[in-house]
Amino acid sequence: MFLRLTMATALCCLILFGITFALAQPPTANQMPSVVQVPAEAQPSPHFDATAATNAYLAQIPPDKTARSDAYFEGVYWLILWDFLAGVIVALLLLNLRWSARMRDLAERVTRFKPVHTFVYWLQYLILTSILVFPLTVYEDYFREHKYGLATQTFGPWMGDQLKNLAVNLVLGGVLAMLLFGVVRRLPRTWWIWGAAVTILFLFFVVLITPVYLIPIFNKVTRLDDPKIVDPILSMARANGISAKDVYEMDASRQTTRMSANVSGLANTMRITLNDNLLRRGSPEEIQAVMGHEMGHYVMNHLYKEIMFDSIVTVLAFAYLYWGLAWVLQRWGEKWQIRGVGDTAVLPLVVLLVSIAGFVFTPIANTFTRTQEHEADMYGLNASRQPDGFAQAAIHLGEYRKMNPGPIEQWIFFDHPSGRNRIYSAMRWKAENLNLFSPHQEAH
Ligand SMILES: [Zn+2]
Repeated sequence: MFLRLTMATALCCLILFGITFALAQPPTANQMPSVVQVPAEAQPSPHFDATAATNAYLAQIPPDKTARSDAYFEGVYWLILWDFLAGVIVALLLLNLRWSARMRDLAERVTRFKPVHTFVYWLQYLILTSILVFPLTVYEDYFREHKYGLATQTFGPWMGDQLKNLAVNLVLGGVLAMLLFGVVRRLPRTWWIWGAAVTILFLFFVVLITPVYLIPIFNKVTRLDDPKIVDPILSMARANGISAKDVYEMDASRQTTRMSANVSGLANTMRITLNDNLLRRGSPEEIQAVMGHEMGHYVMNHLYKEIMFDSIVTVLAFAYLYWGLAWVLQRWGEKWQIRGVGDTAVLPLVVLLVSIAGFVFTPIANTFTRTQEHEADMYGLNASRQPDGFAQAAIHLGEYRKMNPGPIEQWIFFDHPSGRNRIYSAMRWKAENLNLFSPHQEAH
């Protein structure tokens, strides 16, 4: 079976290579302008007005760039729906055609050892579902990203990353599946509590190993050593009580043109990483503004708070699964040939129930993250004192995020504040700190 699936993948690749050659001329990147000069309305003056300064910054973006960025970001709203529906259809196919039951039967023929059943089932499930949704994946992550000039990879390396991703999911997902089915089989009444506990510990483990073991699978991470960039960052870190000695750089340009930075890891693996797109295209003021934001995440323990939030969600999800699975299995379990909650063949149903809840939960999860991002923005402005660098960063990030959404749209779909809100925050900060900016000095 595995060989046949591999051949099917190879065939898909060949067909797609054909299409890639047709696209030989890459579309141009939707690069937002680098604002070399701070606009007149944003220059310090006795008449400084935060709204006028915000509008002056926004006016620097050519309308065609805004239109393209809006089209890219609004397309994602629909993709959330298509991804959800594709997941639902795949799960229902696996259950109703009893492919899930057959994969379980095959796993049982391979060995009598229960944890290995689970792993063999997981292997088949992961490969089959990856192939079924592959057309959507390749459109979403490859063709669409190229169409908007955000992707930098040709098809071969992109597919390589997809296969690496599959391997990571195979190992990590396989371990989690073995642990959870073990818990469910041993503790039929209380598995939802212990299952949640195991999942939360697993989450801690994954966050802990991410910067050291997972990111290097896909990208090269190096210590930044250019003193022109590192010295102001470390000075800002010391001023804020962060005992950092190193800042890391990641070659994100291998996959994307997006500029970004992040905080990853836990305890002694925790670190701040800038990507090379930011280092190459960002002004020193902009890089400092972004680093101030990342230090905000660090100082306010956002990663721990996020794990706390995820832990509460995990407990609720397991309680929902405990009742939901029992209810559904009572009605359709026999038809789908699923023996019970401890039977690995139940997995597509678990994924179905979780994705329904996750779809409804999208705005709440986005609002949690967006609130933290706003906090980091406020911290970053205070720490870096670079409101103009911050406004420039917001414009650059507008290459892949709609600049000026409506309030409900932002509440549902945005996991970061919109570009307009971020520029306004920066200009409001500047309005209250005009004494830091000499009115005669040309902004740089
Ligand atoms: Zn952030």
